[in-house]
Amino acid sequence: MPGPTGDVAVVGAGLIGLFSAHYLLERGYAVTVVEAGGLGGGAARVNGGWVCPARSDPLPSWGVVRDGMRSLTSPGSGSFFLRARALPRVAGYLARFLASSGEGRFVRSWDELDVLNGRTAGLVDKLVEAGIIDDLQDEGFLMLHSTRSEAEVSRASLLAVSRRGLCPAPDPIVGRQALVELEPGLGEASQFGFVHRGDRWLDPSRLVDRLAASLSSRGARFATGTPVRAVRQRGTRVELATPSGVVEASHAVVAAGAWSEQLLRPLGIRGYVTPGKGYSFTIHPEHPPTHVLRLGDTHVGVTPMGDRTRLVGMVEFDGTPDGLNAGRIDVMKRKAAPYLSGIDWRASTDEQAGPRPMTPDGKPLIGCAPGAERIVVATGHNMLGLSLAAPTASLVAELVARGPAASLPAFDPMRFTRRHR
Ligand SMILES: Cc1cc2nc3c(=O)[nH]c(=O)nc-3n(C[C@H](O)[C@H](O)[C@H](O)COP(=O)(O)OP(=O)(O)OC[C@H]3O[C@@H](n4cnc5c(N)ncnc54)[C@H](O)[C@@H]3O)c2cc1C
Repeated sequence: MPGPTGDVAVVGAGLIGLFSAHYLLERGYAVTVVEAGGLGGGAARVNGGWVCPARSDPLPSWGVVRDGMRSLTSPGSGSFFLRARALPRVAGYLARFLASSGEGRFVRSWDELDVLNGRTAGLVDKLVEAGIIDDLQDEGFLMLHSTRSEAEVSRASLLAVSRRGLCPAPDPIVGRQALVELEPGLGEASQFGFVHRGDRWLDPSRLVDRLAASLSSRGARFATGTPVRAVRQRGTRVELATPSGVVEASHAVVAAGAWSEQLLRPLGIRGYVTPGKGYSFTIHPEHPPTHVLRLGDTHVGVTPMGDRTRLVGMVEFDGTPDGLNAGRIDVMKRKAAPYLSGIDWRASTDEQAGPRPMTPDGKPLIGCAPGAERIVVATGHNMLGLSLAAPTASLVAELVARGPAASLPAFDPMRFTRRHR
């Protein structure tokens, strides 16, 4: 039954799809969410739960290229992993990633992402007021380092982040004794550190469940176990082809995360959306942390989530969004172990992998499909899908209501297609 303003079919019940449904319902649309698996698939429940309004720095940068090269030359030890047989499938992404990594492009993309992320804190606060988010934590992120000089470099980079105006300056650096007073469960590698405030965190699985319940109570419908094979516009209607028949609506939103590329290509969009798998698992520390912990330069983080403690990290390009490679979990444990104490590393549980939808320039693709204004694309959120979900989804609702006039050129889904031609 169409709402007063129309009916929208959302492809994907991940973070972007569910948040989009929320803002579409607020505008009076009737919403059906069509999901290939269960609610909150892909990376939606697997992630670190960090809502970081100030950390929009895009992945492509010379620093990451250097780290990536280092990881490749000592395979099995780094936080970036590229499987050789995946090269043909990721070559297009990697070539464009390199082209986006220069200083000028990096800074421009960061500024553009800040425009979106600058709206995050306010929108998330409204979701807290509405009771949809009920576990947002803001005790600060504790940055841990093995040497003072490493801590100084890390603090200087966060000081530079704070000058962009979206978070306060980091606290001063303290030594091991003060760190252990804050967090008794630290290992010997945690010698220097400091607290950084402004970023918050939550349990993403709880968020998915509460958001889905809220959507349902407001009339949204869910078709789970229903993979969408194609999306097309016919006149003033859109059609979603699924194995159980065609779903019709006045508009569609393509929010299929790391699987989006196969729906985008037939629409004439080459987004180079590529799965960059991340891993997480639960550890059972003797002294559970009360801050998010960032462990030196390991690219591994620890998030307290209610009565659980989650370890997250790793970016793996193996050419597929599915599957879990136990070797990656072992690498994460090896890297984290020196920074933490009182943990039986063999007793970890909930080991899971989720595909981040990576784009070559680290920015999402948000906008109307070319020649099919009723189809709105919202994907490619890289490592920032939770942080950017609310501002992205509110823009999606605007695009559905107003068409291309509402688009932000920085996130044009066609930017790589044009360069390709
Ligand atoms: C280990 C890890 C840690 C992370 N930590 C953070 C963090 O702390 N903060 C942060 O901001 N981001 C983080 N991220 C990134 C974040 O999780 C992603 O950017 C985000 O989940 C992307 O949202 P999405 O809706 O585009 O995709 P997803 O959340 O992956 O959802 C896509 C959905 O679409 C469905 N789907 C796919 N194809 C189809 C189809 N054809 N038909 C119907 N349904 C389909 C999938 O089943 C899935 O449910 C992390 C990711 C990982 C893996």
